[in-house]
Amino acid sequence: MADCLFCKIVAGEIPAGIVKRSADALAFRDIDAKAPVHVLVIPIQHVAAVREAKGTQEERLLGRLLAFAAEVASEQGLDRDGYRIVTNTGKNAGQSVDHLHAHTGRKKAVLAARLIIPPP
Ligand code: 5GP
Ligand code: ZN
Repeated sequence: MADCLFCKIVAGEIPAGIVKRSADALAFRDIDAKAPVHVLVIPIQHVAAVREAKGTQEERLLGRLLAFAAEVASEQGLDRDGYRIVTNTGKNAGQSVDHLHAHTGRKKAVLAARLIIPPP
């Protein structure tokens, strides 16, 4: 997608600390790490958020992304003590980049601090 920051990272137009690639996913370090290990896992294909990931292909992609995030976490040495995988969707979650991404990392430090707006 022409004007998408993360599509530009996929295309190599914007540099990023690439951690791992697969045929359909990319992992790179968050530019503003909120934890000692903070990696973003995204699909190569532009999908705005999990909300938009509808249909058989997209559901399979979500499954592969989750598995890919777990591989990244393992390779980052996080298996023993554990880690979080977080994905924000839309404004109430504070999603700031509209290309689906999972925050993967450790530890008790908040990975993606967000204002949780209670229901009315
Ligand atoms: P969100 O707030 O949408 O859940 O997460 C977006 C994340 O992308 C933020 O944690 C932010 O630090 C990260 N981010 C924003 N711009 C860039 C960038 O240009 N490069 C990298 N590597 N991360 C970015
Ligand atoms: Zn994109």
